[in-house]
Amino acid sequence: MAAVANVSALSIPPKAETVYELTGVGKTYARNQVRALEGISLALERGSFSSVIGSSGCGKSTLLKVMAGLIPPSSGRVVINGQPVRGPRRDIGMMFQQATLFPWRTTIENVLLPIEINAGKSAAKAARERGEKLLELVGLGGFENVYPNELSGGMAQRAAICRMLVTEPDMILLDEPFSALDEISRDFMNMELQRICAETEATAFLVTHSISEAVILSDRVYVLAPRPGRIAEVVEIDLPRPRTLDMITTPKFGALVERIRTRLDQGDFE
Ligand code: ADP
Repeated sequence: MAAVANVSALSIPPKAETVYELTGVGKTYARNQVRALEGISLALERGSFSSVIGSSGCGKSTLLKVMAGLIPPSSGRVVINGQPVRGPRRDIGMMFQQATLFPWRTTIENVLLPIEINAGKSAAKAARERGEKLLELVGLGGFENVYPNELSGGMAQRAAICRMLVTEPDMILLDEPFSALDEISRDFMNMELQRICAETEATAFLVTHSISEAVILSDRVYVLAPRPGRIAEVVEIDLPRPRTLDMITTPKFGALVERIRTRLDQGDFE
């Protein structure tokens, strides 16, 4: 009987579970009455990778801050795992353009910092093995005890990835994490990010200015229109996984980039 049950479980793919959901989210800054976002609805499935792309000032950072619980929306609902997001949470990890490691702490001490802040020094000590495993996962095995001034920009961002993952977040929010790196390191780190997301089954949401970066990494790209920021188009990226950098030269990749570029070139999308 067990074998029969297994076969039927295999033949019917499980419905992907929604981890994160925005419904009709708007944000107007009270100070200057700028309507930064309006009517944003999206649902992110577990293990999926999504990007948001749009011109400067169209509301990308505002969207990420609302999703992280750093600022409240003016309207609509923000929900993770069925619970409303009302402030910063341990199950949401974030990564920014700069690694911002503390120079007086070693790599492993930086990685364990979120645990130390949340649960104290002894909890951080107990999590050391997990921190070391993460460092190995990103290729920083052996660099646990060095200080940030001995790490390259790419290595520092890898350490920042570990710091983001150490609390085992369900959702990771990425604000152009590799934009300060040179192009070769950036391509390499993007492929690493894909591998790490696959290995940790993270659900990821990336803000980027780069169309090709959005396409190579994502299952879905949200194109944001400005004033107020709203979703102009959702582009499904049906390239096979794992993605490789040589896909960038394929006609299919080119067509997806062109479709997004055309949408962005339409300016205000009126
Ligand atoms: P992006 O990240 O796409 O460049 P932002 O989310 O930073 O866009 O900004 C969207 C709009 O909201 C802009 O018009 C910006 O001036 C305004 N804005 C952003 N942050 C604030 C704030 N703290 N107070 C008032 N207005 C803001």
